[in-house]
Amino acid sequence: MNYSDSVGEAAESMRLVVPLMSKYEIPIDPMNYAVWYEYVSGKNQGLTGAINQIVKKIDKLPLEVNRELFNRFIAMHTESDLDEVRNGLRKILTEILKNIIETGDETSQFSDLLQQSSSQLRDVEASDAVQEVVDLILTETRKMEDSGKQLKDRLLESTKEIEELRLEMEKIREQASVDMLTKVANRRVFDETLMTQCKEAEASEEALSLVIVDVDHFKTINDTYGHLVGDSVIKTVAKILKENIKGKDLVARFGGDEFVIILPNTNLEGAMSLANSICATVDKKRFTLKNKGERIGKVTLSMGVTCYNAGESIEDYLGRADVALYRSKEAGRNQVSSA
Ligand code: GH3
Ligand code: MG
Repeated sequence: MNYSDSVGEAAESMRLVVPLMSKYEIPIDPMNYAVWYEYVSGKNQGLTGAINQIVKKIDKLPLEVNRELFNRFIAMHTESDLDEVRNGLRKILTEILKNIIETGDETSQFSDLLQQSSSQLRDVEASDAVQEVVDLILTETRKMEDSGKQLKDRLLESTKEIEELRLEMEKIREQASVDMLTKVANRRVFDETLMTQCKEAEASEEALSLVIVDVDHFKTINDTYGHLVGDSVIKTVAKILKENIKGKDLVARFGGDEFVIILPNTNLEGAMSLANSICATVDKKRFTLKNKGERIGKVTLSMGVTCYNAGESIEDYLGRADVALYRSKEAGRNQVSSA
């Protein structure tokens, strides 16, 4: 998939896509639009073949089928692909806005000129023939103004729709990479980043460290104060982790009460020091119930830290971090261990 189409090409695709989507009664949302944008571009052969097969047999394309096509032929693409869709839409938006301004300017200049001419003609003693010309000019002026207004309205509507598409796309992008509760990176981003960083560490021979963080006895917090309080503890822990990293470091929610921190260009000693400092910060923090100010029993973290060994698999690397975390739990929690 390549979205380096020019504004003209993208606009042309849009002209082809919209009638097709209405023919098959498909709502124009970003995912559906992406499927048909790819279809008319002819660049995604698998997708084109699949759609051609389907439309041979049926007149209306069920929404689930459209979603399935999106998942099968488009969803696996990378974030940079999504970025390109976004930028393509933005380019069309800019072009349309430019058109609105230009058309508006021309229409109003034309209308001013005609208005001026008709007033001048009214001031002179005109014969019936001249009067007829005046009337004709005025009628044409009004028609011109009306169609100019209609065009402007239509363009404004398109602009609004495209802006909505852009926002929707932005939302999908965020949902695809951010953990909704804590707003830190999600598991998918963690998996991708860890893989990239391992490759980079191998190539550059720089150190790469990983910290697994788990809230101690979190189940007890849930059981004692309820899930909503549990959620707010998870959010606060995520916030503290985020506040303690910088640059290329990444905090992600691994799942449940577990987080991971990827620390590129950081050796074991540096990672241990950061982990210990975060552990101490959380240990000292007073977690209180929002409305009552009542203190939530002690919240502490256990962590496992590992430095990447060139050549080892991601599974082995993560496995060692997990072993280190287990050690911290076994040794009494609220501490950091390495492996
Ligand atoms: P340990 O010290 O050994 O880690 O004990 P723990 O109680 O923290 O460990 P355990 O993994 O048994 O408990 C994690 C709990 O987290 C279990 C699950 O119900 C809860 N949990 C998972 N996700 C969420 C969430 O999003 N919100 C809330 N409130 N609880 C969650
Ligand atoms: Mg836990």
